[in-house]
Amino acid sequence: MEIVSADVAIVGAGGAGLRAAIAIAQEDPSLKVALISKVYPMRSHTVAAEGGAAGVIRAEDSLENHFNDTVAGGDWLTDQDAVELFIEDAPRQLIQLEHWGCPWSRTPEGQPNTRPFGGMKIERTWFAADKSGFHILHTLFQTSIQFESIQRFDEFYATDLILDDGQCRGVVAIEMRTGQITLFKAKSVVIAAGGAGKIFPFTTNGAIKTGDGMAMAYRAGVPLKDMEFVQYHPTGLPGTGILLTEGCRGEGGILVNKDGYRYLQDYGLGPPDPWPRKKAMELGPRDRLSQAFWHEQQKGNTIPTAYGDTVLLDMRHLGEKKINERLPFVRDLASSYMGKDPVHEPVPVRPVVHYMMGGIHTNIDAATPVSGLFAAGECACVSINGANRLGSNSLTELLVFGRRAGLGAAEVARRSAAGNDAAVEAKGREAEARIVALTQREDKGESLATVRDAMSSTLEEGAGIYRTEASMKATCDVLAQLRQREPDICVKDKSKVFNTDLMGLLELQAMLQVAQTVAVSALARQESRGSHQRLDFEKRDDERYLKHTLAAYRGAEEPELSYLDVVITKSQPAERLYGGAADAAAAKKKGDDPGAGKAA
Ligand SMILES: Cc1cc2nc3c(=O)[nH]c(=O)nc-3n(C[C@H](O)[C@H](O)[C@H](O)COP(=O)(O)OP(=O)(O)OC[C@H]3O[C@@H](n4cnc5c(N)ncnc54)[C@H](O)[C@@H]3O)c2cc1C
Repeated sequence: MEIVSADVAIVGAGGAGLRAAIAIAQEDPSLKVALISKVYPMRSHTVAAEGGAAGVIRAEDSLENHFNDTVAGGDWLTDQDAVELFIEDAPRQLIQLEHWGCPWSRTPEGQPNTRPFGGMKIERTWFAADKSGFHILHTLFQTSIQFESIQRFDEFYATDLILDDGQCRGVVAIEMRTGQITLFKAKSVVIAAGGAGKIFPFTTNGAIKTGDGMAMAYRAGVPLKDMEFVQYHPTGLPGTGILLTEGCRGEGGILVNKDGYRYLQDYGLGPPDPWPRKKAMELGPRDRLSQAFWHEQQKGNTIPTAYGDTVLLDMRHLGEKKINERLPFVRDLASSYMGKDPVHEPVPVRPVVHYMMGGIHTNIDAATPVSGLFAAGECACVSINGANRLGSNSLTELLVFGRRAGLGAAEVARRSAAGNDAAVEAKGREAEARIVALTQREDKGESLATVRDAMSSTLEEGAGIYRTEASMKATCDVLAQLRQREPDICVKDKSKVFNTDLMGLLELQAMLQVAQTVAVSALARQESRGSHQRLDFEKRDDERYLKHTLAAYRGAEEPELSYLDVVITKSQPAERLYGGAADAAAAKKKGDDPGAGKAA
């Protein structure tokens, strides 16, 4: 076992991990940061983000608007103190990126431009054409390499956290190029290892998003919070799951069913406004749009393809000039993968698993209940996304909470005394022994691919867009059986160099643990809220479930659930209204309040 000593170890070099590393380096250059990533930083999933990052900048917008959109978008399951902090820091973080060189698209006057996004009543999404994630990640990466205190460990696969005396003291990882097991000793650790969309069969998520960071924290005793909330994005390409950004609809694209009808007007999102449209319809929140697709499918209004039923995303009316300027990547993707050029033809799309609202339980300082352990980004649940994340809040979340995680970890590292080296190394060796034991398993004929496929298809059947008691129970049973079968999978490749067979098994173990928290948490929540929709409990039930679910690890058993109150500061739960219904409610409120609407 190799040993590397650092002050702070960070698992993950995507948007959140890089932002955390920069914050530490700026705060205290004497702190040594080990930045561990299973892929080169620029291959992290953040690079794939297209649409943009939300932050209030326009004069007609306000922090209050961003707060209200986010809280209502999350169906009141957001922690409002975290949302307040988030919306206030968001513009500062986006301007900071500008100063580090992020090439935001501009208005004719030279200001950063914004585009409308789903569930946001005023446009506030900063973008860099439709390659926003690429430019954000590149900006963070090029900024990070100027700090000597950040040492990168690219292509190191982290497997375990090391705790001693209740304090997080390091991470064990495999150097993928050599198979060498390495113990990173540290005074504090940040997990920024991204989401877990790969537990589902059809997802926009890159192959690396297997929930490793979530599983690591979970096994170390940190509960996973609100895992039942899984976001379906309404416009994925059938077959591949490649995303066509919400920016397509932000720029004016429309969704039609097999009859060319804008069906969203039938689902509380209308009326279809005259052009240019700024509100609801196609710019409703993602949960509502994906649910509307499901209903159209039940009614036989979708278009069957070899890769499932679809509706059409029509952007032809935007014209070639605008599509080339604002959505060049979308044109490229639709043409290459579907043979449909959006300038001339509508593109078939269907809902696709996109984002996990749940994750590692943290407080608003990105600290977990384990001392010295922080988490930020998609692997964490702070929680600003509640039951449904609004598009473009995630990229900003990486910056706001990645930075906070870094500052928290730096503070702990500065005041911590050195740990008990012998105890930490002994625990490192235990983790090493567990990995070595995997490579020595006897061949009992069980197949990794079969178990992985069974896991993802049962999740889609039981924990998809709509859920029922019976379907979720069946999924929980299948997942429990799959966990029993997993120890029978052996690693056939015995070599040390890039042993993808071993990595695949470690990823599967993580995915099974994460998948179980999704299904078990979903079964227990007997209501419909945001992305968690039950056909047997159709209404939101604030009395019983205005609460976060916490799923705690219990070894081979199913997770143990407990509940935590949601933090409410100024927005009491209300009905989520979009489009004309929201306008009518606002007008009524104005009428009821004689003071409203008068000049201040
Ligand atoms: C196609 C697509 C488009 C999107 N578009 C938008 C958008 O326009 N706006 C928006 O706000 N959000 C968008 N999102 C969501 C957003 O991009 C992600 O939630 C966010 O980028 C996640 O960033 P992260 O830093 O948490 O993780 P990631 O960028 O996924 O990085 C995870 C890091 O963890 C490392 N890692 C993982 N496991 C291990 C391990 N075991 N050992 C070592 N390292 C590990 C990886 O190597 C990687 O460096 C999009 C998502 C997708 C999939």
